[in-house]
Amino acid sequence: MVVIQFLTVVRDQHNIYGSIMGNFNRKLPKKERILIPMDDRLFRNVMGKFATGVTVITTEIDGSIHGMTANAFMSVSLNPKLVLISIGEKAKMLDRIKKSKTYAVSFLAENQKEISMQFAGQIKENREAEFDWLNGMPVIKGAIASLTCNVVAEYEAGDHTLFIGEVTDVHFQEDAEPLIFFQGKYRELKSLKESVHS
Ligand code: FAD
Repeated sequence: MVVIQFLTVVRDQHNIYGSIMGNFNRKLPKKERILIPMDDRLFRNVMGKFATGVTVITTEIDGSIHGMTANAFMSVSLNPKLVLISIGEKAKMLDRIKKSKTYAVSFLAENQKEISMQFAGQIKENREAEFDWLNGMPVIKGAIASLTCNVVAEYEAGDHTLFIGEVTDVHFQEDAEPLIFFQGKYRELKSLKESVHS
């Protein structure tokens, strides 16, 4: 109990300090502003307010397929057709994409939460995965859409590396609903729609 009270005081003081410093900082000319250290949990909580789909990134090296769950995905350019993924420095996927110079992205369907957990390393037992093939690359069977890419640029950004991919092929299913990730939890679009209308 005492520990929880102590942690609450520390958190509140941090937030108050951050808010005072933030207000003070905003009044300074841009060049004189200082970088306020920000709590990791606060940053994660704010980023969690951005609802995303869930993808599995796949690549293949010497006949061995590796997959990883990722929600840091975006479409970048229409002409040429470019997309972007962001891979953490500790992920095994990082070296694999650096070597293969190709990756595929599968957008998971609402019934594929377990696949997301499997490729995020959250299921301890070893499970087989079912792949389809698109343009000679492995993609997740039953995903609502998938695309294959050649890496055309990579940028280190803090503790992640951004890989820009030029899209080489695409596939999608009509009328399939996506898996959603919001505030650290899996959701379905259906329940969001229902709650908006009720
Ligand atoms: P591992 O952790 O070794 O592999 C992941 C798991 O995938 C293994 O445990 C295994 O079960 C399974 N697997 C891999 N290949 C196969 C195969 N051929 N057959 C069967 N199973 C296989 N991290 C990021 O860097 N960027 C992100 O954008 C990102 N977004 C995320 C979004 C969500 C919703 C979640 C839950 C996690 C996210 N992560 C992200 C974290 C990332 O998914 C995990 O850290 C992941 O464990 C890193 O994978 P790895 O390459 O290190 O390999």
